[in-house]
Amino acid sequence: MNMDLKSSATPLLLAGPCSVESEEQILATAQALAKIPEVKMLRGGIWKPRTRPDAFEGRGEEALAWFREAKLQTGLPTITEVATPNHVELALKYDVDALWIGARTVVNPFSVQQLADALKGVDVPVFIKNPVSPDLNLWLGAFERFQKAGLTQLAAIHRGFAYYKETPYRNFPMWEIPIELTRRLNVPMITDVSHICGNRELLLPTAQKALDLATDGLMIECHISPDEALTDARQQITPEALRQLLASLVFRAKQSGSVEHDLAGWRSEIDDIDEELLQLLARRMEVSAQIGEYKKRNNVTVVQMDRWKQVLADLMATGEELGLSPILINKVFEAIHQASIERQSRIMEK
Ligand code: PEP
Ligand code: MN
Repeated sequence: MNMDLKSSATPLLLAGPCSVESEEQILATAQALAKIPEVKMLRGGIWKPRTRPDAFEGRGEEALAWFREAKLQTGLPTITEVATPNHVELALKYDVDALWIGARTVVNPFSVQQLADALKGVDVPVFIKNPVSPDLNLWLGAFERFQKAGLTQLAAIHRGFAYYKETPYRNFPMWEIPIELTRRLNVPMITDVSHICGNRELLLPTAQKALDLATDGLMIECHISPDEALTDARQQITPEALRQLLASLVFRAKQSGSVEHDLAGWRSEIDDIDEELLQLLARRMEVSAQIGEYKKRNNVTVVQMDRWKQVLADLMATGEELGLSPILINKVFEAIHQASIERQSRIMEK
């Protein structure tokens, strides 16, 4: 398998059912998917991590034989989820080509370590999903465990995060987290739009957003008859619907020479603006420190809540006039205000 996805012009597409349910289901799904040229890999769950114990938990070893048959009939390499060393052993025994580590497993460093130990010396591609919780270090830690075990073909799968509020998504994307992971680690990033969305309606805009953010691949759950699927029925689509989805997506060049050239001018403008922002921030902190000295001399508290509320309200109003997102204004000025308070508190303590 070629894992050099970063330089590949088209994103890697992994498609297939949430679960391998029967021989007929996986063969029919795989055959239909193999007719779509963009599909490069067949996914299928053999062991399913379910929230409640009486739910369908996958067909286990017998499904591995069907999965291998699907690969032989279509030539598509296969990928499945492993959560225990026993899963690893069986998946490799039945010639599964690549493995993914599920979101519920990545939250547990003991499990990740057991899997890394089980894979020592086996250079199989391993795709690591983000943990259910929005915890970048936990995700990074999983990569480090596999790297230490000598695995070199590693990729990340962004499948969204559990969120404290209701959102239209099953798992809130929090795009900044996968972006930060790829800034820190040079690994391909695959976007699992099916588990982010949880429904069919959001798949198109979410996949487009992933492409716009330069994802290296998409994972999309496909089932020959999605409404009858034993798991994740609401988010699975038919191979025909996948074909239509792909036709509606705009694939953008990631880094062609001419695009690089066109972007260079804007990038240097952005660099200049960032530099100016830094200079302004430094000046603002300086003034804030002078205020801190004054407050100390005159015994005035650091936090002046009424003043801060008024300042923030004025900034939000101006921001709105400028067409800036209220979330952005809030985040930026909360952070600046917090830094000012910390600076002034240090002055008070002197
Ligand atoms: C899956 O891909 O079917 C799955 C269970 O994913 P996750 O671990 O992201 O929930
Ligand atoms: Mn699923």
